[in-house]
Amino acid sequence: MLSFAATTRQLGRTQLIRTATRRSYATETASKKPSNLPLYLMGAGVAGLGGYYYLNSTGKSVITQEKSPLDPENFKDFRLKKIIPYNHNTSEFIFELPNNEASLLPVASCIVVKASDPEALKDEKGKPIIRPYTPISASEHKGELTLLIKKYDNGNASKHIHGLKEGDTLSIKGPIPKFPYKVNEFEEVALIGGGSGITPLYQIVTHALSNGSNRTKFTLIFSNVTEADILLKSDFEALKKKYPTKFDVVYVLDKPPAGWTGLSGYVSKEVIQQHVAPASLNEKVKVFVCGPPGQVAALAGKKAGMKQGELSGILKELGYTEDQVYKF
Ligand SMILES: Cc1cc2nc3c(=O)[nH]c(=O)nc-3n(C[C@H](O)[C@H](O)[C@H](O)COP(=O)(O)OP(=O)(O)OC[C@H]3O[C@@H](n4cnc5c(N)ncnc54)[C@H](O)[C@@H]3O)c2cc1C
Repeated sequence: MLSFAATTRQLGRTQLIRTATRRSYATETASKKPSNLPLYLMGAGVAGLGGYYYLNSTGKSVITQEKSPLDPENFKDFRLKKIIPYNHNTSEFIFELPNNEASLLPVASCIVVKASDPEALKDEKGKPIIRPYTPISASEHKGELTLLIKKYDNGNASKHIHGLKEGDTLSIKGPIPKFPYKVNEFEEVALIGGGSGITPLYQIVTHALSNGSNRTKFTLIFSNVTEADILLKSDFEALKKKYPTKFDVVYVLDKPPAGWTGLSGYVSKEVIQQHVAPASLNEKVKVFVCGPPGQVAALAGKKAGMKQGELSGILKELGYTEDQVYKF
């Protein structure tokens, strides 16, 4: 386990790496110079048809990248370039994308992974074990795809990935389209996440806020067991500082430390009533939920495999409809 000092150093380094990506994007979109304005023309869920464009000095669009280096139909091996420990059970895994290309993953989408060596990760029937993960690197970030992965001691894929060394490869397929997020489709968005279920919510909120024309207000309710389990906290604090009227975050802990000023216990009806825009806003409000299966079931009802499943639980009791809720 990392010492506190080492962890703090790592957090600082991690923060710098991700902020650098985001800052360059924010600068580009905020720029008044059309020659620096990137247009991300991505069809929702069909990254292969999208592209990465910018306008050159004569105002003509120049295609710099035709398609994603990932393949939605086939697994491809990607080299693990760097591992950055994040906390006691979670690390960042930075994979190299060939030719300095960007992943161009549509938002929201995830990828699925399996071991490069078919013998290394298989179930009792000998079939490869495949798991979904949501990159925390921006879609347009060149040359790298970063996964933030929590290790479960008895978890198959997470243990395999945490056992990889820099220079090893992982087999990745994607994108797997999730919710096709459109900037300004909603006035209010609530993101309710638990533990490592934060990554799809992080993907949406960073993507939306970095768009200069965003008017949507985001509220993140993020629950964890202990304070040390809160992933991406410094990123969320930075977002709150940068977008004070468009982003707010509420932390909820099962086991709060002495002096904790956030909320304690589970995400209850009262917490939602207090922090989430009401169901009466109809199509102007959307609630995204991603967390451990028990939490998703209590808040919004169980997912039915890959399908959304019936809406039930606290959100249904509070009057939200199936159209207003999305479960990752
Ligand atoms: C759309 C999507 C995106 C995801 N993105 C990420 C991501 O970015 N980072 C990340 O770390 N994980 C993410 N996950 C979870 C990931 O896919 C795996 O479920 C997780 O890594 C555990 O897989 P495993 O094979 O190691 O464990 P398994 O072998 O499947 O399970 C081992 C044990 O862990 C428990 N367990 C499994 N998953 C969870 C969970 N989420 N909460 C509590 N207990 C659990 C099981 O009940 C079991 O006891 C995502 C899941 C989905 C559906």
